[in-house]
Amino acid sequence: MIAQRTLDHSIRCSGIGLHTGKKIQLVLHPAVEDSGITFCRSDMKIDIPARASYVVDTRLCTTIGRENASISTVEHLLSALSGMGIDNAYIEVDGPEVPVMDGSAAPFVFLIQCAGIREQSVAKKVLKVLKKVSVQDGDKYCALYPASGFKVSYHLDYDHPLLRDREVSIDFSRQAYTREISRARTFGFLHEIEALQKAGLALGGSLENAIVLDQYRIVNEGGLRYEDECVRHKILDTLGDLSLAGLPIVGAFEGAKTGHEMNHRLVTALLNDESAWRIETLAGEALTPKRVTEGAPQAA
Ligand SMILES: [Zn+2]
Repeated sequence: MIAQRTLDHSIRCSGIGLHTGKKIQLVLHPAVEDSGITFCRSDMKIDIPARASYVVDTRLCTTIGRENASISTVEHLLSALSGMGIDNAYIEVDGPEVPVMDGSAAPFVFLIQCAGIREQSVAKKVLKVLKKVSVQDGDKYCALYPASGFKVSYHLDYDHPLLRDREVSIDFSRQAYTREISRARTFGFLHEIEALQKAGLALGGSLENAIVLDQYRIVNEGGLRYEDECVRHKILDTLGDLSLAGLPIVGAFEGAKTGHEMNHRLVTALLNDESAWRIETLAGEALTPKRVTEGAPQAA
């Protein structure tokens, strides 16, 4: 049996929020079998499940919310949890966003490794894609297809000399998330960052936590961590956004010029079409409806 996984013990860190620029405490805790990933706004005592139905905003980053509480920039931490195969965790955040750290998922991977990973007594459940589901908006496109394992292909195409017509495909059954994806930082264009900061956004954004591009080149003195780091960051984001389905996906994702909004629409379209997925154990054993309800994703 391939078992569900949680953290071995609680662990904390702090860092600044990308948008508010304020210091935020983050605490990761183990959680019981079949509970999934749950965030808590610890300063407001409000739990927010990491599920597509709780997504309240997808501009700039993915924000989840419930009642009057919200948490932004959940995608990099969710990506790390997904990439490390963590099924269940309880995450306290004492402010309106997850700390941005270095703009990648590597600090969260390190945090999870420091906490340790514990196998639980229940089989891991997955959401197997049974038929193609796609979302299109002009030249932006993303889709999920049936496939064995989990694969992500991303095609990036910006009007910038370094970001024209780039594609990366990762087969996570053969390639390691930690090595291939987790270190890829978020990126932005200098003129956009200046405009955001004038509007009171991205106040914590700096060369310490993002790749910054001017018209022709990369501004960061240290250069890139991967030759195609920006495309790999898009895959990092995709893992985080897809994890909002509530269970690990067995299938293939294909995306072109998409971001958080399209990813969210895709997950919602998938969950809303009950003929497009089935919950199974990793061994391929279909779960009976009664057992399915325990860990079933909540469709929007
Ligand atoms: Zn990102």
